[in-house]
Amino acid sequence: MCLRAFHPKPLLAFFSAVLLALLLPLMAPAQAYVGKPKLIVVVVIDQFRGDYLQRDRAEFKGRGFRLFLDQGANFSDCYYDYANTKTAPGHATIGTGAYSDGHGIETNEFWDASRSFEHKVSSVEDERYQLVDLPAASIPANQPGAPDDALKYVIGSSPRNLRATTFGDELRLGTQGRARVFGISLKDRAAILPAGQAANGAFWIDTASGQFTTSTYYMEHLPEWASAFNASGRVNEAAREAKVEGTTQFFELVGRTPAANRYELDFARALINGEKLGQNGVTDLLVVSLSPNDIQGHQFGPDSDSEEEMILSLDRDLDSFYSWLDKTVGLKNVWLALTADHGIAPIPAEAAKLGIHSGILNTKILYAKLNTELNSRFSPGKKTEYLLAGADLPYIVLDKRAFEKAGISEVVAEEALAALLPADVAAQAPQPDGPLPLQHRLAPAPQVAGVYTRLQLAHGQLPPSEMGRVLAHSYAEHGNWYVMLLLDAYQMAGSGGWEGTTHFSPWSYDRHVPLAFYGAPFVPGEYHERVAPVDLAATLASLAGVNQPSAAVGRVLTEALKPTHAEQQ
Ligand SMILES: [Zn+2]
Repeated sequence: MCLRAFHPKPLLAFFSAVLLALLLPLMAPAQAYVGKPKLIVVVVIDQFRGDYLQRDRAEFKGRGFRLFLDQGANFSDCYYDYANTKTAPGHATIGTGAYSDGHGIETNEFWDASRSFEHKVSSVEDERYQLVDLPAASIPANQPGAPDDALKYVIGSSPRNLRATTFGDELRLGTQGRARVFGISLKDRAAILPAGQAANGAFWIDTASGQFTTSTYYMEHLPEWASAFNASGRVNEAAREAKVEGTTQFFELVGRTPAANRYELDFARALINGEKLGQNGVTDLLVVSLSPNDIQGHQFGPDSDSEEEMILSLDRDLDSFYSWLDKTVGLKNVWLALTADHGIAPIPAEAAKLGIHSGILNTKILYAKLNTELNSRFSPGKKTEYLLAGADLPYIVLDKRAFEKAGISEVVAEEALAALLPADVAAQAPQPDGPLPLQHRLAPAPQVAGVYTRLQLAHGQLPPSEMGRVLAHSYAEHGNWYVMLLLDAYQMAGSGGWEGTTHFSPWSYDRHVPLAFYGAPFVPGEYHERVAPVDLAATLASLAGVNQPSAAVGRVLTEALKPTHAEQQ
């Protein structure tokens, strides 16, 4: 036995093992996950559909999108797993790793029975707070210092409707408040919701002037660096770049141009400098939601020159922003994530020309017809309004006060409405004023794909299918009765015209978004596994070593993670 110890083969193996043991500590750091970063930046591009990165891939230059495509982990098949693909729920999902049934936000503006039957409330408006340091011309009548001609009633904002914590909240909890968490957007909801309840600040713009503001939920006054940014003339420069100098409609006119992406990213630079992010000895978080792509996208659609210009311009601006991050915080100390709050449908007229069964549902006509039918059944001879105004598909909200007055229960009311919808929607076809389809193809015609009552959703009485799961994830309630109306794919609500497009549906083009990561823990590559935006918060929480957000249902994307040092040994 002992002779075998001198056999050349075992000897070679012995020296190899010694050599490996000596080299391993030197090699390991290059392979291993190198610890928590100083800063995580999540970039959300509003309405950026999942196929855009692939479509324009050959055109990208520098370290904008290419940073993710060439050096990051890119998940090309990421789909929201709910049917209400709107901005507020999308941003809440990115932060919380949960869907509407977890975070409580189903759309941008909803009827809340506990607050008002006079008007809808936005997902973040909160009358207990005020907007901060607005420019004099924008101070509304309900605040001191308002000009004589102030008409607007503007109230503050908060994450009051967010019923789950975010990844940022868990970072704050996990570090006893030492981690610093911020959100930025042109839109209040997109700044507030992904950042969370415990965020140090969220900043968005006063829509008229373009100046950044926040709410007294976070602070009484803007920080010095933000006031300096507002006073710097940068807002005028953005308007000049957009060729609308002196405008009082900054959100609409500058907001739909690439100039507004640069404006937001410059504000992000000012925040990182001003708040000294990445210098706190713990992991800080910044969520930047870039709104311009959504503002122009609704108007011009996903296949327009405007969309192409926006994407390529954003590629250059992200290159510049990430290069700046590299020079300041150092990209080796940063993790980056990229995603979107929802996709978008092609303009229905364009789809119809190719023979796709698109269609426009005129909700004004629909509501009038439904009210007539509900009156003839429940209150003959009367003209009761049974629906709360302002259709916002996929939800149709009933006025429960009207039904209760007529002695009708929720189950009877919702089922009556659900039964009427398929025929009433189909009655709007054919649509001869629409675009002409190719010869031998069908004319555009709206059609119901499914109707589900609030009670069905609340009790899980849904089909045991993919769609059933998607619908269950869409459930939230604010004290009102409603039904969910699903139209066929490539169809949407409109006021009769064929201009513009939108997102709101359970169909793939509204649910498909990018999901990509860059940073030390990620194995670069293209991943085609079907994943979901809820996986973003789950993955970051796992890597940062904090608890998952309170209602998180996402999966940790282990296929894209380097092995940890411990696992290697
Ligand atoms: Zn959006």
